[in-house]
Amino acid sequence: MNLFDVYTLWNIEPVRAKGCRLWDKNGTEYLDFYGGHAVISIGHTHPEYTRMLKEQIDKLGFYSNSVINSLQQEVADKLGEQCGYPDYALFLCNSGAEANENALKLASFHTGKKRVIAFREAFHGRTSGAVAVTDNPAIQSPFNTGHEVTFLPLNDIDAVAKELDKGDVAAIIIEGIQGVAGIFAPDNEFLQQLEVVCKKHDTVLIFDEVQSGYGRTGKFFAHQFAGIKADIITTAKGMGNGFPIGGVIISPKFKPQKGMLGTTFGGNHLACAAAIAVLKVLKEESLINNAKEMGEYLQKELSTCGGIEEIRGRGLMIGVQLKPDQSELRNKLLFESHIFTGGAKNNVMRLLPPLSISKNEIDIFIREFKKHTEK
Ligand code: PLP
Repeated sequence: MNLFDVYTLWNIEPVRAKGCRLWDKNGTEYLDFYGGHAVISIGHTHPEYTRMLKEQIDKLGFYSNSVINSLQQEVADKLGEQCGYPDYALFLCNSGAEANENALKLASFHTGKKRVIAFREAFHGRTSGAVAVTDNPAIQSPFNTGHEVTFLPLNDIDAVAKELDKGDVAAIIIEGIQGVAGIFAPDNEFLQQLEVVCKKHDTVLIFDEVQSGYGRTGKFFAHQFAGIKADIITTAKGMGNGFPIGGVIISPKFKPQKGMLGTTFGGNHLACAAAIAVLKVLKEESLINNAKEMGEYLQKELSTCGGIEEIRGRGLMIGVQLKPDQSELRNKLLFESHIFTGGAKNNVMRLLPPLSISKNEIDIFIREFKKHTEK
């Protein structure tokens, strides 16, 4: 059987990884400034993470959500304490798109409405409900179903207020920082006004922190820079450091009912072990603070480099708008310097390294970046 050929692949096969480094099957070492798409939070194969996963798989790999799994409560307790939402509830699922689907579902149940406001170029996932709230032409599906969605420009509060005045909007969904679109942070003032208009109209404010959450920006969630509170937050990627897990963090104003949401694999024992290890290491190694400090250092060093039009982002979620003549830079970094980076359209390089990245690793990246851009 062939694999369904939907990914453009680099001809590299990583077989081993440690911290911010990967090795391919020929033994070549790579530096990871991509984090497997913002997924690697505490670093590859962290010893505490592998220990906890191995210990769990030897005991019990899976049993269903119809029996008590106290690991789920441990995830909820630790997450509540660390993310700043201790009074919210957690629903566990398997991915970012699934978390967003469940968030939208909850918003519709709660309000009895179904229209959703989303923002241009945001990306919320690839299931049909999540695709419906994504207008990125590269991702849009002709088979959209589900929610009726209105796309608005980011940072235009008047446009939002005008739509909410119509009285039929269940939810606003917005990324903490737009990732796939090329790293665009909403203005703090816009987010503060969004919180106010949502409250006024009883519209559910959903923050998609799937990419920007779990400490990547230097705060647990990116929207916390605006000093506001969401009604629902969705999370995935960094939550399991590579073990698939997603979460919906839900305000106490939503009352659960049996059968309202469900999942077969969500919150399974292994996923919980991974999630607990991530939260433990994030805290013990002060990785959110490291993301803040290393992010500032990386931005400062990037500002001394050529080939750049603009540097955007926060912490270790950085978008580098490259000059048009730098379209080959990512390939050169990968194939000549052995450094993984992420991309976005319009010549944007996305930097999403593990939150444990060191100054020394940043210096290597900057040295190689300059080598290619100052030729
Ligand atoms: N939301 C955002 C902001 C994302 O960046 C992504 C994936 O890139 C998703 C949702 C979808 O997550 P998943 O691929 O885990 O379904």
